[in-house]
Amino acid sequence: MRPVILFPLFAPLTTLKGVGVKLAPLYERLCGSKIVGVLWHLPIGVIDRTYAPKLKHAQQGRVATLTLTVAEHVPNKQKGKPYRIICTDGSDDITLTYFTAKGDYLTKLYPTNVPLVVSGNLERFGRGWTMRHPDYALPASRLGEIPKFEPVYPLTEGLSRKMVHKVAQQALDRLPDLPEWNDAPLMKREGWPTWKAALVEVHCPNTSPLAGEESFSWACDSKSLEKLGGGSKPAPSIDPPPAKSKALLTQDQDFASSPARGEVLAHRRLAYDELLADQLALAIIRRHHRQAGGRAFSGTKKLQDKLTATLPFTLTDGQHNAIQEIGEDMAAPRRMLRLLQGDVGSGKTIVALMAMLQAVESGAQAALMVPTEILARQHYERLQEFLKPLGVSIGLLVGKGRGKERKETLAGLEDGSLPLVVGTHALFQNEVTFANLGLVVMDEQHRFGVHQRLQLSEKGQGVDILVMTATPIPRTLTLTAFGDMDVSRLMKKPAGRQPIDTRLIDMTRLDEVIAGVGRQLVKGAQAYWVCPLIEESEKSDLAAATQRAELLAKHFGAGKVSLVHGRLSSEAKENVMAAFAAGNIKLLVATTVIEVGVDVPTASLMIVEHSERFGLAQLHQLRGRIGRGADKSTCLLMYQAPLGAIAKARLKMMRETEDGFVIAEEDLRLRGPGELLGTRQSGLPEFRMADLARDRDLLAIAHDDAKVVLAQDTELRTPRGKALRILLYLFEKDAAVRLFRSG
Ligand code: ADP
Ligand code: MG
Repeated sequence: MRPVILFPLFAPLTTLKGVGVKLAPLYERLCGSKIVGVLWHLPIGVIDRTYAPKLKHAQQGRVATLTLTVAEHVPNKQKGKPYRIICTDGSDDITLTYFTAKGDYLTKLYPTNVPLVVSGNLERFGRGWTMRHPDYALPASRLGEIPKFEPVYPLTEGLSRKMVHKVAQQALDRLPDLPEWNDAPLMKREGWPTWKAALVEVHCPNTSPLAGEESFSWACDSKSLEKLGGGSKPAPSIDPPPAKSKALLTQDQDFASSPARGEVLAHRRLAYDELLADQLALAIIRRHHRQAGGRAFSGTKKLQDKLTATLPFTLTDGQHNAIQEIGEDMAAPRRMLRLLQGDVGSGKTIVALMAMLQAVESGAQAALMVPTEILARQHYERLQEFLKPLGVSIGLLVGKGRGKERKETLAGLEDGSLPLVVGTHALFQNEVTFANLGLVVMDEQHRFGVHQRLQLSEKGQGVDILVMTATPIPRTLTLTAFGDMDVSRLMKKPAGRQPIDTRLIDMTRLDEVIAGVGRQLVKGAQAYWVCPLIEESEKSDLAAATQRAELLAKHFGAGKVSLVHGRLSSEAKENVMAAFAAGNIKLLVATTVIEVGVDVPTASLMIVEHSERFGLAQLHQLRGRIGRGADKSTCLLMYQAPLGAIAKARLKMMRETEDGFVIAEEDLRLRGPGELLGTRQSGLPEFRMADLARDRDLLAIAHDDAKVVLAQDTELRTPRGKALRILLYLFEKDAAVRLFRSG
């Protein structure tokens, strides 16, 4: 149960002022429905309102806070003309303009002959000063309500900067003092503030004045500046901040300067907290998994040997090693939790099949779970071929299986007569029960979550788990995606593969490319033509892909060209894929549905349009669809000029190497992990405070920390252990805490 001390943070957002029924859904979209979500919603910059010049000496294009008196209201007479309020600060005049607001509202907001403070972007229009729609306009006595440094939060339509700021401030006011869960020596070494101070720091960026910047001029008296402070800021506990601080946003420009040290420390601390919570939860889940009595599946080698004898190829050394490692792990009486990492085309399927056979030899059942229906069917057919000579049967379970077959499969799994099954997440369904499930293999696992992984293994007792991934996740990141799994890696591809010739080509040369593809098709080659499909622009992307397919059909003949995309029914998709695999279709125009796992060895040509819009890992996966047969393969990465420096570097990388791990490391360096794996489908936890590219060093520390803590304090009962339980609840790892005997 969530500790009482955290209750204020998990109260609904609607308990805050300014979050009513109307706005609640907007806030929910922005940062969830609980107060804690607001805390994780960090500002992306800060507006400095301390610039308070006399107009006579002022600089245009900056955010300024002025003390003004209103001279005259000039209502808008014509449509399209603004309502104007002429003001003066004694040194010069300024015109405040409003295009949308109503006159009576403005006469109330700007009474004449009362000193007012007005803050906003100061501009020149013709020869005079103007400020369009000032951000703040208050009687001078209420100066304190204008934040000196105003954090800029990411917004959603319908919520203003001010509204979110106010809500964040209220959330900060509710911060409890939590016991320190971090190791004291680590805190000292890193110079980190407490959790509470860190949150206040990142939400109230106390940007120092731009000392040393020539343009800075203090024209306002120090008394009003003091009032401007508003008093929301704790005393900084570290060295004086450097001359330039944090990203400073004015309305028109943002100067990306480096954040102050105090803020960096605060960020790192919060990132560490999140990573530690994650690592600790994974470690607890893993320990639980291990402890929940495993079984020994020793096998007899009978089926495995038979398979080896009937394979049309010999296994690579890497495959042999992996099979051996997995085999030993399965034979041991504890539960296996192992990751098989191997680049696209490295031959993981056969390794998985060997493991599945070992389970069957031991009298148990095995299930192979894949992320899409196409893949499930493809594996099903491929595995059936391998299994036929062995006399072992396999079933298929996908979302909408047909009546009779499905019933038979379910019955076979339940009574144990069916030893093997391949399927999608349909395998999770309640109606699926196994007589004796011993092994679960998950292919392309990055699309499944940790939770799902455990869920399927609960369908048997002491079930071993083998996770296969073709995503070349850098070693550091496997920690977050998979926690502490044992890892087998297939580093080399089966012999006889030729390197893929990858070239970068400007979109303007489309005609040449089409002509070139035509020549290859005549020679009997098959080709993939990939068009991007990004969720945000799905409609227009789909239209573009359809158009491209039509154009190519005109060139090469309608019967030879087909289009496949995610909107098609799975049956339609499957028909197209089958026709392509059979060689009836020569050119397959596709959005990225072909990305995962599909295997057509005769395809030797791939064209990727707008390759600059793809993630590197995605391009790598796509390219892995070719180069599978004996023919030399070519991949044309077409791009829309001009390319930025990073985009250029990324595409060049694709030309230079086929090593997925090199590509992944480089992509991580260039872009960060979210994009590396395609944020939504990556299955990597999406961190709110941590950034895996920036905080990789912290991840390693958190990983070790979690391990050591659990070894010394197995039930988290010491004072630090108890504080760590609070940390777990804070990051909503309740499921992990529940695994303690005395949760
Ligand atoms: P992935 O690791 O991407 O899942 P697959 O298991 O689909 O790779 O294997 C890719 C292709 O390589 C398949 O057609 C498979 O039959 C073939 N293959 C696997 N192992 C070998 C091998 N040792 N020698 C030759 N071909 C192999
Ligand atoms: Mg595969």
